[in-house]
Amino acid sequence: MKRKDFVKSMVLGGLAATGIVGCRPKPETAGTTPSVQTKKKYRWKMVTTWPPGFPVLGEGCEMLAQWVKEMSGGRMEIKVYGGGELVPALEAFETVSEGSAQMGSGCPYYWSGKIPAAPFFATVPFGMNAQQMNSWIFCGGGYELWKKAYADFNLVPFAGGNTGVQMGGWYNKEINTIEDFKGLKIRMPGIGGKVMEKVGASAILVAGGELYTSLERGVIDATEWIGPYHDHRMGFHKIAKHYYTPGWHEPGTNMEFFVNKTKLDSLPLDLQVIIETACTRVNQWMLLEFEAKNRIYYKKLVEEHHVDVRVFNKDILAKLKVATTEVLEDMVSESPEAKKIYAAYRKYQSEINGWSDISERQYFTSLNI
Ligand code: CA
Repeated sequence: MKRKDFVKSMVLGGLAATGIVGCRPKPETAGTTPSVQTKKKYRWKMVTTWPPGFPVLGEGCEMLAQWVKEMSGGRMEIKVYGGGELVPALEAFETVSEGSAQMGSGCPYYWSGKIPAAPFFATVPFGMNAQQMNSWIFCGGGYELWKKAYADFNLVPFAGGNTGVQMGGWYNKEINTIEDFKGLKIRMPGIGGKVMEKVGASAILVAGGELYTSLERGVIDATEWIGPYHDHRMGFHKIAKHYYTPGWHEPGTNMEFFVNKTKLDSLPLDLQVIIETACTRVNQWMLLEFEAKNRIYYKKLVEEHHVDVRVFNKDILAKLKVATTEVLEDMVSESPEAKKIYAAYRKYQSEINGWSDISERQYFTSLNI
């Protein structure tokens, strides 16, 4: 065996052994494309769904561009555009699919109009948390399903960060029974919003920039956003009475990078691996940054702003869970593909919950003894 082939087989063997091989963009090309022998420079555009300079989510995109430039020795540069700077935020998917930009950043549930199963690659109410989602995507078969779902759009997805468990939202009235949702005007997008409708609330669509005034003026009675760091920046603590937990509707939202497959395949192998590696690094950084910042801002909200933190009671959560199952089953009923992905997601969740229950839950319980 030549040294080059030996190194290649060691690398691929090592990746296969750790299970990472499943998320390589195109492992079968390994060794067939010249890597660092070329001086050719690549300049890519990344269109994102985040407002320009958006903390953590937008920052992650800038960091990816920086890391790709550094890892490639300057051969590859990616210019990052905030939502609306090059194309409107929610046109990022189509723009990259058509190849007008080479890559994008968003959240899979934005594309559920095109891919009914897309929310399973982001988050669903009472679904998996960040650790479980990463485990499913990287090592549990989730990535293969995700890749297949995006292949029809000539896109390759990569996990691109996770918010961790979000907060349940800001409310101006107490929620003591499921009846208290009746008639409530709440900003909660996506599947969570559908669950709210099911229990009698009105899910109202409000753009991020108008949320504060909508809540302040009573256009809405409640809103969810992300977690303490971003919620503090929005200033909701100044105008809402109660801050509820847990964020049952978004237990660990997985972000994404998506790359035009033709453009990705046309890169030398080392640059393909560099992009994948940078995405994975952002994926890790983002969750850790969310946790680090939420720790500080949760404390600030409670200690400096005396925010009234409430926990949804068991009866409310049990009823929301029943409504969620109805909504999810309805959502996948029209699409065999979505049904298949829902089944795979649920199977993995049920298996990993068996383990999380006797590991994480028992450990956290022991801390409170
Ligand atoms: Ca949210």
